[in-house]
Amino acid sequence: MTRSELSFHFDNTYHRLPERFFARVLPVRVKAPALVLFNAPLAEELGLDPERLAPHAAEIFSGNRWPADADPIALVYAGHQFGHFVPRLGDGRAHLMGEVIDRHGRRRDLQWKGSGQTPYSRQGDGRAWLGPVLREYLISEAMWALGIPTTRSLAAVTTGEAVRRERVLPGAVLTRVAASHLRVGTFEYFASRGDREGVRLLADYAMARHDPECLTGGEGRYLAFLQRIVDRQAGLIARWLLVGFIHGVMNTDNMSISGETIDYGPCAFMNGYDPDTVFSSIDSWGRYAFGNQPGIGAWNLARLAETLMPLFASDSKEALRLANETVESFPDRFLHHWMAGMRHKLGLFREEPEDQELVRELLETMQNERADYTLTFRGLCAASGGEDGMVRALFSDPVRLDGWLARWRARLERDASPPEARFSRMRLANPQFIPRNHLVEAALEAAVAGDMQPFGTLLALLQRPYDDQPGREAYAALPPPSTEPFQTFCGT
Ligand code: AMP
Ligand code: MG
Repeated sequence: MTRSELSFHFDNTYHRLPERFFARVLPVRVKAPALVLFNAPLAEELGLDPERLAPHAAEIFSGNRWPADADPIALVYAGHQFGHFVPRLGDGRAHLMGEVIDRHGRRRDLQWKGSGQTPYSRQGDGRAWLGPVLREYLISEAMWALGIPTTRSLAAVTTGEAVRRERVLPGAVLTRVAASHLRVGTFEYFASRGDREGVRLLADYAMARHDPECLTGGEGRYLAFLQRIVDRQAGLIARWLLVGFIHGVMNTDNMSISGETIDYGPCAFMNGYDPDTVFSSIDSWGRYAFGNQPGIGAWNLARLAETLMPLFASDSKEALRLANETVESFPDRFLHHWMAGMRHKLGLFREEPEDQELVRELLETMQNERADYTLTFRGLCAASGGEDGMVRALFSDPVRLDGWLARWRARLERDASPPEARFSRMRLANPQFIPRNHLVEAALEAAVAGDMQPFGTLLALLQRPYDDQPGREAYAALPPPSTEPFQTFCGT
């Protein structure tokens, strides 16, 4: 590995934390790097010059060369995986390239993922293969276009090396961009070792980075910080549910303090509405099923609160009371965000207490028939103008739906908003295009076989999920029955 001439204008801060927070370790060279994808608009947003970068892209985004001012490190963290605590995980196949200040003045991490072994690799080879790398690229960029906080994808390269899983597969490296890589599990790492000073340093660091307003709060700042994180996660998970997203592996090491969606392993979008939907092959108990996500979010936040508790008050009973009170605010915070989103989806501007019941009835009607989640809501956009055909066609027995439509219309009357405003509000909350599993799988299969065209088409389509895209109707259609039930596999 060699240093390149190019500077990324890194402005690293994590490196100033004590040595026990990370390991200084370089990416491991790969044989024959080749650039597969490069996100030029994102590069520009990060203050990078795509044209100057282009000749070096394969070398830099494989980790074979690193920018002149990069100082690669791997971060340590712990985590609860499927409820079981693992005291040391860490970046086992990722290296932080550095932090940049983007065009909007926001600090962003650049990280190689799949870049070789680190002191935290345990039994792993430190590598990733092309399928999951492309999957993360596609779905994270789709989430971003849907308006959901998420890490982004800057580049994907193949390594020219084989990765051994159940089969021999083509190796690849993803360059990921994140508001930070601080996780609930980062706090758990220090807390579980009894390193209170480490927890305090980490909390002050995270606060400075994500919630600087809290810094002036004296000793009350830690509680204020937790409240902010609870609200962000409530908002994030509400947005997942509003578009039918299932993260699939909500371990505490995969929950970001910044409130971004992170770690796209076995995630997938639901088709027919059923809160019990699970796609991940390793989630045999349905711990991370669609409808369990808010509950798991609160559970994870309780683990975070435990680590911060000693900072809340010197009296441990009082500290526990404050921690509980904050974590217990999650369901209300979640409901607030979710109902706000549902009002958008149903074209409602004003609030009425019965709105929650109206939503519940719709979801129950959908669940009875496993009606397609995305198409039902998109169909309601047309129905708001009196065209019920599209949404009714999704129900084999639309009688119950008709009853609900009548109640919704009565509610819209009371809302008394102009029909055009209502229609455009609904269209911006109800996507036409989501990364449907059968489309994603077909695109990945072709890409791994060397044909990037279907992937490119899908990626472009998902950049404008709320627009009708004439000629692309097939991408919005129901999945062919032969592709269900669908399973995802952890992206290792
Ligand atoms: P994940 O399931 O991707 O969130 O990863 C959980 C932990 O396993 C993290 O510490 C990863 O760095 C580590 N890990 C996953 N895959 C590999 C691999 N191929 N080599 C080394 N570590 C890995
Ligand atoms: Mg992870």
